[in-house]
Amino acid sequence: MRIQRTLSPTAALIPLQHLLRAPLGLFSGVKYRNQLKEGLQDRFSAHAVFLLSSGKAALTLILKALAAGSRRRRVVIPAYTCFSVPSAVVKAGLEVVLCDVDPETLDFKFDELKSLVDGDVLCVLSAHLFGFTADVARTKRLCREQGVVVVEDAAQAMGAQSSVGQAGTMGDVAFFSLGRGKNLTSGTGGIILSFSPAVTELIEAEYRQVPEPPVHETICNWIETALMKVFIHPGLYWFPAGLPFLGLGETKFYTDFPIFRMDELRACLLQGWSDRLDQMNRERRATVRRLMEELGLGERDARTSAFSESAYLRLPLLMRDRSAKASACKRSREVGAGISPNYPATVQDIPQLAGRITVRPVPGAQDIVERLVTVPTHRFVEQQDIRKLDRILSGEGSDHDVPLHGRATADQSRHRPCAAPLK
Ligand SMILES: *Cc1c(COP(=O)(O)O)cnc(C)c1O
Repeated sequence: MRIQRTLSPTAALIPLQHLLRAPLGLFSGVKYRNQLKEGLQDRFSAHAVFLLSSGKAALTLILKALAAGSRRRRVVIPAYTCFSVPSAVVKAGLEVVLCDVDPETLDFKFDELKSLVDGDVLCVLSAHLFGFTADVARTKRLCREQGVVVVEDAAQAMGAQSSVGQAGTMGDVAFFSLGRGKNLTSGTGGIILSFSPAVTELIEAEYRQVPEPPVHETICNWIETALMKVFIHPGLYWFPAGLPFLGLGETKFYTDFPIFRMDELRACLLQGWSDRLDQMNRERRATVRRLMEELGLGERDARTSAFSESAYLRLPLLMRDRSAKASACKRSREVGAGISPNYPATVQDIPQLAGRITVRPVPGAQDIVERLVTVPTHRFVEQQDIRKLDRILSGEGSDHDVPLHGRATADQSRHRPCAAPLK
């Protein structure tokens, strides 16, 4: 453990007064969950809103509800995504089908998606990874003819906007995560938005059976949220980051997670969420603009109009190769720069899924696993951090035998941002 300024890979802020007032708010008689639901319905023009204990709980509920209304059992998901996604598919008793991902867009390889979508597919999950908006409309066009539902995984993209619409409003049904590392947080939490009366009815039937969380769960979440509020600061983050048993930033496959309704305390923490979300996403975009300029990332293919639209929960960069990634991550750990290697494997390589999914080549997803890192974009990123990041990303001080920009050809000579797909 090194005592030094350390950036977290992501950070969402909860105002202190909200945190302190939330427990008292429980006795005020105000129905915070109803307020939250109305606010969400207003902003996203959803047909119905459901509040849950986590994003994966929300996804599991969506999948169970869809499965209850259909004989189809196959769920197509991106081959590179958060391990919670296949966890939810398995928990719902459904079959995981992988579609490869394009490293340039982080969205589906659409030719492959087209070949996968048929009358046995229940739904396709379109994910806005790192806050970039995916081309949900294109996925929808492929799905419509086959009667396949499009579920939007907007876990990392609350508040993101594309020219087509807001993330979370483009599919038939969507979910957000309110986990610690997301755009907006209540410790843990999940939101479902439904845009179709038929889907709403199916989810309502499932939601009726979802229990309230036990009181100790609510209290633990509040305490964890309070600790996070303190330790997320760069001056203190070295402490939780150095405790391996906390497993910060790890992504796990597990199906024994609980499914509860969201409690009043979490809903109370989320008061004023809409303005706060916009503010934090504005700050993230401003950081990205500075990073692009000062790290010289825009030289090759800065598609700057993406700035005004994406939520940029993290800035993804494709490093030159596997060893360039490994050495950047190692240097970053040493100096606390907040660079994250992200998901350690393709979904296909998750050990618990062995024998459960059909193994196919997923070269795009594999390339992302080998080369992608993300850089923090939150409000704590300062000039001194950008200087650190620049040194790391340009290979300075690395023990790597070839300088990162050394022998590469011109267009491979620098790590570069994954571009947001623009429409
Ligand atoms: C975080 C995340 C989830 C799951 O959300 P939790 O609230 O952590 O359960 C699902 N999909 C993606 C892409 C995520 O990043």
